[in-house]
Amino acid sequence: MIKKKVCMLGAFAVGKTSLVQRYVNSIFSEKYQTTIGVKIDQKMVRAGGKEVNLLLWDIHGEDNFQKVKASYLTGASGYFIVMDGTRRDTLKVGLELKNMADTVVKGVPYLVLVNKSDLKEEWEITDTDIADLKDMGIEVILTSAKEGTKVEEAFLRLTELMINK
Ligand code: GDP
Ligand code: MG
Repeated sequence: MIKKKVCMLGAFAVGKTSLVQRYVNSIFSEKYQTTIGVKIDQKMVRAGGKEVNLLLWDIHGEDNFQKVKASYLTGASGYFIVMDGTRRDTLKVGLELKNMADTVVKGVPYLVLVNKSDLKEEWEITDTDIADLKDMGIEVILTSAKEGTKVEEAFLRLTELMINK
């Protein structure tokens, strides 16, 4: 069986844990997770005619991005950079994390998820910002962990990129 380690990266409270929980358990919780440490969820997904076991690594608690250690990313086959559409600063943090990830797992597939699309009227990240990311060659998907919008699609897309690599 194919196993793929996938890391969730992004500024605090962008929705990393919510996206994993939505994907794995089809639930959304308003409650804040405060556990410290790394949680690894598993999900089987079928992509390109193959069964793939995704190991979804998520830092719990106060996951200040400076604290993301290289060891968290070591061995990752892919990762998500999650941004919060309602907080423009999470775009910059996301790009910094991308640069950091490049030093550990250079060349592995990744996607940018701009999350909280259910709050689109409150977004600070603009269409122009998103177009700029795409111009940099980055694949961007707008998600809502709350409503489940594009969550399955995002994980499936990353899986396809990982197995076609
Ligand atoms: P993390 O720190 O990146 O793991 O973020 P969490 O998953 O803990 O989410 C932080 C906060 O944002 C929580 O209050 C979530 O309920 C909320 N949240 C996460 N995803 C969404 C979303 O898609 N829409 C809305 N409206 N809130 C969200
Ligand atoms: Mg979290």
